[in-house]
Amino acid sequence: MATTTLHEPDAMTGTEDLNPFHIAQRQFDAAVKYLPSITPGLANFLKRPEKVVTLEFPIETRDGTVLIFVGYRCLHNRARGPGKGGIRYHPDVTIDEVRALASWMTWKCAVLDVPFGGAKGGIAFDPKKFSARDVMKVTRRFIVMLGDNIGPHTDIPAPDVNTNAGTMARIYDTYAMMHPGENNLPVVTGKPVDLGGSLGRREATARGCLFCLQRALERGILDGRSSVEGATVVVQGYGNAGSVAAQLFTQAGAKIIAVSDSRGAIHSPDGIDPDAAIEHKRQTGSVVGLPSSTELSNEQLLALECDILIPAALESQIRGDNAHTVRARLIAELANGPTTPDADRILLERGTIVLPDILANAGGVTVSYFEWVQNIENEQWEEDVVNEKLLKKMRRATDAVIDKQEEINSSLDKLQAERVKHGFEGEPLEPVDLRTAAYVYAIDQVSTVTLERGIWP
Ligand code: GLU
Repeated sequence: MATTTLHEPDAMTGTEDLNPFHIAQRQFDAAVKYLPSITPGLANFLKRPEKVVTLEFPIETRDGTVLIFVGYRCLHNRARGPGKGGIRYHPDVTIDEVRALASWMTWKCAVLDVPFGGAKGGIAFDPKKFSARDVMKVTRRFIVMLGDNIGPHTDIPAPDVNTNAGTMARIYDTYAMMHPGENNLPVVTGKPVDLGGSLGRREATARGCLFCLQRALERGILDGRSSVEGATVVVQGYGNAGSVAAQLFTQAGAKIIAVSDSRGAIHSPDGIDPDAAIEHKRQTGSVVGLPSSTELSNEQLLALECDILIPAALESQIRGDNAHTVRARLIAELANGPTTPDADRILLERGTIVLPDILANAGGVTVSYFEWVQNIENEQWEEDVVNEKLLKKMRRATDAVIDKQEEINSSLDKLQAERVKHGFEGEPLEPVDLRTAAYVYAIDQVSTVTLERGIWP
């Protein structure tokens, strides 16, 4: 019998359900209402992952202890192409987090019109507590055990939280050992540039966010502000995405007034030099303590008055219980899933614009796609070619999402009538925010391709 209830959101009273996969499903359900021709059966297929692999494996660490590590790889949907998505190393990784992240990749690739489906992987451990050699062993063992669950035309990993070009080099090397005599470079993206990586990939997530924001501002999304020049910006998270965003936004004329990492937050109303913060973090392990800055809590950082807040850390940072404290005028989601559905509702009511993750952080996977194409063609494109192509893709996708929001919000009665015609009942349709518009756009793309291909057999 078909399962329709597994992983449905829990009924919650009072507190918000922060299970990431439940959140992803709530976001999907909120959007699919605006696509009345999608049947409940098709909707159920689109919101569920196709495959989730759980691997448990031992590693003998440097001091001789044997530890068991648990890792996952989820392939959410590959109607539009092979699965694509990063691998993260973090103690909070769970199977439902990986499911959520994989589904967000499906919608992200569809919004950007990148010919991939969605996938994601993760290992539940804190790499900062292990030696580089131990982390390398974890990577290699995970990739060997994944075997042909990944491949250049089936499922292609990339960096994510706490993994980087060095990790991708190990993944490539391990996979290549198992598949000698083939061009294995396209099995993984985000590789070092001298090992088939693309110029511009390291900066791509942050650069894509800047391009998206610049386009959205040009389109008049924020009253009285048509560019980032002179804007005050707060960045939560100072890993690859957050630190590069601080640099690129500064180069574009914005002022970074606060940044944070997992150890704390710092504030400087006169502006933080992003390079000095990177150097301070390299030397001390944290941005905290940067000269001429004052220390803040994470909650205080999120509540700072500013033009643009860039969450660039983990999921569920802006929630039903703290969204009312946000005083930014616009949130550009550089992390995956930083804003929960309850927070989205509050932000919409308060008029705070949210550029959603599946658009605003899609620069990373877009340049991953360019890397994959370069690898298949044995090419290396110049950095300005990569950035120009990224600009085009980000502008087109940003326009598509804004246009979709305008289209939906100007035809709510017509959509409601169509719903009734298709046998749906319920509350009248509400105006949508940009997240729901992006989902509607993406679900429409993926469902169209699914129906064109047909449900096999
Ligand atoms: N981990 C990144 C993301 O969440 C990049 C994925 C990729 O390049 O495949 O979008």
